[in-house]
Amino acid sequence: MRTLVDKINELLNSKKRITITTHTNPDGDAIGSSFALYHYLLKHNHDVKVVTPNKHPEFLDWVPGIKDVEIYDDNPEKCKKIINDSDLVFTLDFNDLKRASKLGLTINQFKGTTIMIDHHQNPVGYSDIEISEPNITSTSEMIYMFIKISGKIDKIDKDIATCIYLGMMTDTGSFQYKGVNSSTHQIISSLLACGVDNNKIYNNVYNSNEISKLRLLSVALKNLELITENKTAVMHITQDDLKKNDYKKGDSEGIVNYGLTLSGIHFSVIFIEDEDEKNKFKISFRSKENFPCNDFASSFFNGGGHLNAAGGIYKGNLNSAIEYFKKSLNEF
Ligand code: 5GP
Ligand code: MN
Repeated sequence: MRTLVDKINELLNSKKRITITTHTNPDGDAIGSSFALYHYLLKHNHDVKVVTPNKHPEFLDWVPGIKDVEIYDDNPEKCKKIINDSDLVFTLDFNDLKRASKLGLTINQFKGTTIMIDHHQNPVGYSDIEISEPNITSTSEMIYMFIKISGKIDKIDKDIATCIYLGMMTDTGSFQYKGVNSSTHQIISSLLACGVDNNKIYNNVYNSNEISKLRLLSVALKNLELITENKTAVMHITQDDLKKNDYKKGDSEGIVNYGLTLSGIHFSVIFIEDEDEKNKFKISFRSKENFPCNDFASSFFNGGGHLNAAGGIYKGNLNSAIEYFKKSLNEF
């Protein structure tokens, strides 16, 4: 990592126009890593913007700096110009431009330098400088390491620390996942020393639900199906369910994890129909122990992710989706 960090710092030696981008449906780590880097680069007097493909969920509205975010879906022309006028584009928390939807196409045509910082397995290789660390549990932690290796740990203030903490907390399931180790906690310790209010961040993210979220949770739990022979739980939420329950972005996040709270269940899946396009499902996969969600998602659902958390898509009606899923599971 050090050689790559040195290379990036050479580029940062003079004032640059920089755009930071992340993946579609940005989550805590996408937003946390982007705004941590944003505040850090602003401190070095660069001209910095964050551009996301689409709107972040409301439970991230409190993130320091997020009021300045530019959202590609809301204003594609403006965002294209921001990218094209940049010297450097950072792409954070994804490793395939497809994950950034239409914004990915703009980045693909960008003539300046692109820098990927990411922790997903098997990067496609689209950037000029690529920092890929699949063993690190969040991109936000990689931003911490970038700052540390740059010898600028003293630049981490409360805002930067808060953003890094957010991404580390959300991508580790609040520090419960396997990849969490003593180094994770050492970093957390140093972030707390910068004044991070961990309790407030947790409450902002997890205890600020709208009633629509609990209603959708109840829909999913009601239709939860167990495939005991495969230690699997399957749930779904249809477009009708979304409409009836006044769905808001982010409401469906985390519901898939409830399947894993069952004893004897190692694999949990949720099919969520697109809010605009019928018969198109976004699928979330979660597992305990060694069941490889990413391999399963890439083999059958045109997706990917990590060992214990992955996503994919399916086009077709709900019944065929579940049937195809069961067949795939038996084949796997
Ligand atoms: P989620 O289920 O929360 O949407 O995604 C879980 C993990 O899988 C995330 O780390 C995300 O980056 C990855 N992921 C989700 N959807 C896709 C997809 O369509 N393609 C790929 N390659 N990864 C995905
Ligand atoms: Mn991440």
